[in-house]
Amino acid sequence: MRTATASAGKHYSAVKAVDGVSFHIAEGETLCLVGESGCGKSTVGRTIMKLVEPTAGRIEAMGTDVTDLSPARMRPHRQRMQMVFQDPYSSLNPRMTAARIVAEPLEIHGMSAPAREARLAELFDMVGLPRSATGKYAHEFSGGQRQHLAIARALAPDPRLLICDEAVSALDVSIQAQILNLLIDLQRDLGLAYLFITHDLSVVDYMADRVAVMYLGRIVEIGPREAIFTRPQHPYTQALVSAAPLPDPDADRSTRIMLKGEVPSPISPPAGCHFRTRCPKAMAVCSEVYPVWKESGQSRAACHLV
Ligand code: SF4
Repeated sequence: MRTATASAGKHYSAVKAVDGVSFHIAEGETLCLVGESGCGKSTVGRTIMKLVEPTAGRIEAMGTDVTDLSPARMRPHRQRMQMVFQDPYSSLNPRMTAARIVAEPLEIHGMSAPAREARLAELFDMVGLPRSATGKYAHEFSGGQRQHLAIARALAPDPRLLICDEAVSALDVSIQAQILNLLIDLQRDLGLAYLFITHDLSVVDYMADRVAVMYLGRIVEIGPREAIFTRPQHPYTQALVSAAPLPDPDADRSTRIMLKGEVPSPISPPAGCHFRTRCPKAMAVCSEVYPVWKESGQSRAACHLV
């Protein structure tokens, strides 16, 4: 990834990411970033948070170029964008009590001790954890409860944008549903914008207002959830959607599009369209010219056939 930009204000959060492709996330909206493992979707989230440094290009957050900001000057931006990771066990300090884990960001941002106490109780209530659990350590919670704790910590500084990076992938299906429903409730109550990074199309179907599909470090299609699932434009999106799990075991799977070969190395992507080595519809022009973005209905896609 060369460029990642994100901004969040009172009325909207916006993200412009990956080689000049841009998209925004409105207040109260969920944008799901989906693609195969290694496509760069997690790097987008981490780079927006400046948890990884870009090797080239720039990062914008809250309308500000933060590429060269010092940690101190980055702090106000981080306060308004928080991240929830896949594995809460490794992202939560095992030597801290739950109270310290959740209150630490408040301390960093200079909140007084009495105000922290009140905010801590509020956050535990918001995520459905008992206040009596504040003295427990991370290993004393179940996997689902640990993710509740991670969400409470992320919400502590009152962010406007929550980046959820495979936030339910490590959980059982029933626990996944609990966490997803909690996130939906929090979004409704707080007007949060979500960038939901996932490889799981059933999660996308449940959570997304809009979907951005990534392949090899670039976004290849973006559009409303319904359009992406029913009228995918890009051959890669068509393959992903055709392979999505069907709830009906007797449903017709004959239209499934099987992609051949491995994802090429992002270090030396194929010339022209990066997807051409696996695309069932590739043409001669695809190996020479990277396709420009074109609108189709409510979606936009980068493919010569659109
Ligand atoms: Fe396939 Fe060509 Fe479209 Fe790329 S531009 S997705 S190779 S048809």
